[in-house]
Amino acid sequence: MKIGFIGLGNMGFPMACQLVEGGYELVVYDTREQPLNNMADRGAEPAPSLHALARLADLIILMLPDSRAVEAVVLGDNGLSGALRGKTIIIDMSTSTPSVTKRIGETIARLGSVFIDAPVSGGVRKAEEGSLTIMVGGEAETLAAIEPVLKTMGDHIVHAGPLGSGHTIKVLNNLLSATHFLATLEILCAGVNLGLRPENMLSVINTSTGRNLSSEYKVPNFVLNRTFNSGFSMDLMCKDIAIAVSLINEGKTPAFLPGVVSQIWNLANENGKRTSDHTEIAKLYEAWLGSELSIAT
Ligand code: NAD
Repeated sequence: MKIGFIGLGNMGFPMACQLVEGGYELVVYDTREQPLNNMADRGAEPAPSLHALARLADLIILMLPDSRAVEAVVLGDNGLSGALRGKTIIIDMSTSTPSVTKRIGETIARLGSVFIDAPVSGGVRKAEEGSLTIMVGGEAETLAAIEPVLKTMGDHIVHAGPLGSGHTIKVLNNLLSATHFLATLEILCAGVNLGLRPENMLSVINTSTGRNLSSEYKVPNFVLNRTFNSGFSMDLMCKDIAIAVSLINEGKTPAFLPGVVSQIWNLANENGKRTSDHTEIAKLYEAWLGSELSIAT
């Protein structure tokens, strides 16, 4: 089976590498030349265009920034839809907007192919390990057909429901994660103001009831040691939060925290941080606090 892979960024590149290592033949496409050359060095075949990729691939995976890019790649001028052959399955593993996912799926179904959402969680670290969580939205029989391919990239695969359900769960999860991150930063700032050391606080929190992924992994690895290199951008985090908040508002859900969380993340993004790593939101809190959240030397 030849797999087409489009979008070789922070996540797509290591995921494509897992597929090559898993023995799949890969044809790849990205608007940037560098990752195409790097994938060619690993044995993948760069495609000169989306049409060329659609003609070569039996199955196509997308790992793009957002629904806008997904729609352009699938349905845009010179997009995949102009050259699909037979019943191709297109898997959108990006974090996209569920309503757009459903709309694209309907158009692709009319063309005789299948569109399914399968976004991922676990970040660059788990993408490199092939141990992502993958949440799938679509028909059970499509999931059964693609499961061996998904298992090359992830070790926890959940059928979330019909088309768009994977994207819905994914953005709700990221909103929760974004909330944990801010709550953890605020508690650390409060402790520092009361004379505590952040590393001592985390040592207690991480064996106590307040622990979460931000306290256990993100803050120690990307904030306290000042690397700010998680591989997940501030802009993508704000995109995910915006989708989640709009779904919550559409459903008139009684939820009060998302509005506040969203405002703080957008404030950080608008403060010239658009291209920075999402963990750099800690610098906003440090500016308010008047000191760094770093380990004492
Ligand atoms: P990224 O910006 O690093 O990579 C996106 C890639 O898509 C880039 O290589 C870019 O050149 C390419 N691209 C953009 N538009 C294109 C187009 N029209 N045609 C072809 N290629 C195009 O993003 P990422 O961090 O790899 O994230 C990808 C998706 O996965 C996003 O939806 C993100 O929200 C989600 N995600 C990211 C992480 C993470 O930790 N980075 C974790 C889980 C999910």
